[in-house]
Amino acid sequence: MSYTERVVGELKTRYADQPEFVQAATEVLESIEPAVSAHPEYEATGLLERIVEPERVVMFRVPWTDDDGKVQVNRGFRVEYNSAIGPYKGGLRFHPSVNLGILKFLGFEQIFKNALTGLPMGGGKGGADFDPKGKSDREVMAFCQSFMTELQRHIGPDTDVPAGDIGVGGREIGYLFGQYKRIRDQFSGVLTGKGLSFGGSLCRTQATGYGLVYFVDTLLADKGDSLEGKTVVVSGAGNVAIYAIEKAQALGAAVVTCSDSSGWVHDPDGIDVELLKDVKERRRERLTAYVEARPGATYHEGRSVWSVPCDVALPCATQNELLIDDAEALVASGCKVVGEGANMPTTLDATQYLIANGVAFCPGKAANAGGVAVSGLEMSQNSERLSWTFEEVDSRLKGIMENIYATASAAAEAAGAPGNLVVGANCAGFLKVADAMYAQGI
Ligand code: GLU
Repeated sequence: MSYTERVVGELKTRYADQPEFVQAATEVLESIEPAVSAHPEYEATGLLERIVEPERVVMFRVPWTDDDGKVQVNRGFRVEYNSAIGPYKGGLRFHPSVNLGILKFLGFEQIFKNALTGLPMGGGKGGADFDPKGKSDREVMAFCQSFMTELQRHIGPDTDVPAGDIGVGGREIGYLFGQYKRIRDQFSGVLTGKGLSFGGSLCRTQATGYGLVYFVDTLLADKGDSLEGKTVVVSGAGNVAIYAIEKAQALGAAVVTCSDSSGWVHDPDGIDVELLKDVKERRRERLTAYVEARPGATYHEGRSVWSVPCDVALPCATQNELLIDDAEALVASGCKVVGEGANMPTTLDATQYLIANGVAFCPGKAANAGGVAVSGLEMSQNSERLSWTFEEVDSRLKGIMENIYATASAAAEAAGAPGNLVVGANCAGFLKVADAMYAQGI
C-alpha cells in the first residue's frame, strides 16, 4: 500500500461523519500520488498526515435577537487550515448546511487554490449555520455583530483574513467590518470584499465569475478555439453565476440558463443579465420574478439545468450539484468543457466520467480562484494604502487566470497525465505548500 493510499484509508475511517471533507481530500491525495512518491522525505516527515489536519479550528456560540425579540443561537466556525505560505485566507459561508465537515472540505480546497494564484495566502474557511434568507437587514446585522464579537480575537490582517462565500456578500462584510473596527479600534485589511468606500477593491465583485470565464477562454484558445458562438449552460444565480454570465456574453457566447435553490430558468434568447442582477442583487427575489418580466423564458422546478444541450457547462451554485446522470446527459448532448465556478460542484464519479469521455474538465480550485486572487490584490492595495483602477485589477486577474492554466497544464504533463487539469492543479498547488511545510520543519 502506498503512502497516499494509507493516509486516504485512515481519513475514510476517522472522518466517516465528514463525507464532503473525505471526498475533497481523497480527490486531492489520489491525484498527487506520483508527486508524493517522487519525494520520500514527505513520508519521512509525516507531511500528508500534517497537511490533512487543520492547524486550528475555532467553534463558537453566536447568540442574537430576532425581530420578535426572541433569542436565537447559531454555531460559528473558523477553520485555520494551513499558514505555510501566508496568512490564513478564505471565505465565510452562512447557510443552514454549514458544519465542521463542510468547512474542512472548503478549507482544504482553499489551501491549494490559494497556492495556485501565486500570491502569498494560506488556506482557511469559516461560517455559521445561519440562514440569511428571509431575515431583515436588522437581523442580519445583529447576527454579523455577534459573530464578529467572537471571531475578532482569532483574525487579523497578518494572521487570518476572511471574505465572503455563499450567504455572505457586501452587506454582511460591511456589518462584520464595522464590528471588528468598533471592538479593535483598528482600520485594517482584516476582511476582503469590503465596500469601495472603505478599502474594497474594484473588480472584487466580478472576480470569481470573470476569472472562471478567463480560465475557460484560455483553455479554448490553447485548443485553437474560443467562446464566440458557443452555447453555455450556467447553474446558480449568485455572485459567481451572474458575473460568469456577463463575461461569457461579452466574449460572444450565448448563455441560456441559470438556477437558484428552488428552480431554474431556460432563456433561449440569452439570459438578460441586468434583469437577473435586479432580481437577485437588488430585490433579493426568486427566479420566478425573472421569468415574469421576460417573455420567452421558462421556469422549471428542480435542479437539472444539465439537461439543456450546450458546448460549455459552468456549475456555479454549490457542492455536489452535478451528478453522474448529469455528466452522462452533458456528454450525450456534445458538451466539450466543464468549468467549476462553485467549490466541488461535481461529484467524484461524474468528474471521472467527464474526463474519460474527453470533456476538458476545469476543477474549481483552478477555475474559480479569481475571487480569492482579487482578495489577495485587495490585501496588497490595503497594505500600500492605494486603490487601483478597475482596468488594472481586471488585467491582473486575467494574467493570474492565464498563469494558473499554464501552471496546471505543465504540472499535468510532468505528472504523466497531459490535459488532466485535476491532476495538474492538485500537483502544482500541493508541491508549493508541501515544499514550504518541509522547509519550515515539524
Ligand atoms: N469564497 C471564495 C472562495 O471560495 C473567496 C475567498 C476569499 O476571497 O478569501 O475562494
